[in-house]
Amino acid sequence: MYDFLIVGAGFAGSVMAERLASQYNKKILIVEKRNHVGGNAYDEYDEHGILIHKYGPHIFHTNSKDVFEYLSRFTEWRFYEHKVLANYQGELFPIPINRITINKFFGVNLIDDEEVKNFLSTKAEKRFPILNSEDIIINQVGTELFDAFFKNYTKKQWNLYPNELSPSVCGRIPVRLNDDCRYFTDKYQFMPEEGYTKMFQKMLSHKNIEKALNTDYKKILDTTKFDKIIYTGPIDAFFDYQFGELPYRSIKFEWEHLNIERKQKAASINYVDNAEPFTRVTEYKYLTGQKTLKTTISYEYPQLKGEPYYPVPTDENRASYLKYRLKAEQEKNVFFCGRLAEYQYYNMDQVVANCLYFLKSKADTI
Ligand code: FAD
Ligand code: UDP
Repeated sequence: MYDFLIVGAGFAGSVMAERLASQYNKKILIVEKRNHVGGNAYDEYDEHGILIHKYGPHIFHTNSKDVFEYLSRFTEWRFYEHKVLANYQGELFPIPINRITINKFFGVNLIDDEEVKNFLSTKAEKRFPILNSEDIIINQVGTELFDAFFKNYTKKQWNLYPNELSPSVCGRIPVRLNDDCRYFTDKYQFMPEEGYTKMFQKMLSHKNIEKALNTDYKKILDTTKFDKIIYTGPIDAFFDYQFGELPYRSIKFEWEHLNIERKQKAASINYVDNAEPFTRVTEYKYLTGQKTLKTTISYEYPQLKGEPYYPVPTDENRASYLKYRLKAEQEKNVFFCGRLAEYQYYNMDQVVANCLYFLKSKADTI
């Protein structure tokens, strides 16, 4: 008899399991259909001994002290600030767009924030209200930079143009007036010293937590006794797609191993025009700090079908999701959390923060 059946051993499932076991003395069965814990943040050594992220590059960044301190119980950290370059017509530019990007793209020589601000004000087109991902970028930088750096990359990634997506999608990427080339500016930017998988294994190594890998929870529902469910898989699957399938964007990863010390000029290169069918290429040694004479890179090819990786933030999909959420709210003993179960484009730290908040707010009823 378990207090909780937890479906999925990614960030959402693992934080819930760890807290419920260690703080509330609950007995947990955590069920994962893959053959490993960690969800999409899972990492492993490839056949050449390079630490890779099987489901694409995962960079930990947060402004939340609580989240950082919580995860620090399970891992040491390695300081790491991610950098991305955009490949546009064979030339490399810093992304997010900053002063260096603008000087190179327009062949100008703006020397400070003020000059960049004035220059962009001659390019930006006022959009009000901001209704979609095209509006939010063009409102800041105008059509030339938008067309070069956002329009085609977004179409490749989502099979939708920015004007079909919520402002929150391209709005993830700031526009900078200075020459800061970091992808993120969060207060805490670190990678788990020994990788994510090690961190998850530590989180889940509690006497009250039992793990069942390679197991779809639906297969064990009839034979397992438990009080409550925490569900972190896709919400439409939980309800047997009764309102239709929610779109999730998938990715096919292609791997290349090279007998050279370093391949790229930055950890990730975004291929922002249509010359290549892939979106980005990532060299994992930058992220992990591994010292070897060889290197492994991944190419990302977005797909319609396959493992669900990204909820697709459009108004229509939000409306479909809300039908499922209404059903979810009627379930007394099932709690839905995480990126797939809440159909939200969450980063890892947001998932952790939500789980910690959820447990605090329900402390008296758990
Ligand atoms: P998941 O990690 O998806 O875990 C859900 C788990 O449930 C999965 O392991 C799945 O196998 C399991 N499951 C589903 N259905 C069942 C079932 N029926 N039975 C049993 N198990 C089931 N975030 C960042 O902060 N920084 C980044 O740099 C970053 N990069 C990303 C890059 C890519 C390519 C992707 C796809 C995501 C990235 N993210 C990043 C987001 C990050 O992956 C998520 O925020 C986080 O992993 C979500 O955790 P989760 O537990 O909600 O979901
Ligand atoms: N984006 C873009 N060009 C870029 C980087 C990002 O058009 O060079 C857009 C694209 O729509 C992408 C979104 O901004 O999906 C969010 O980018 P982010 O790097 O946060 O995506 P993720 O790491 O989640 O795949």
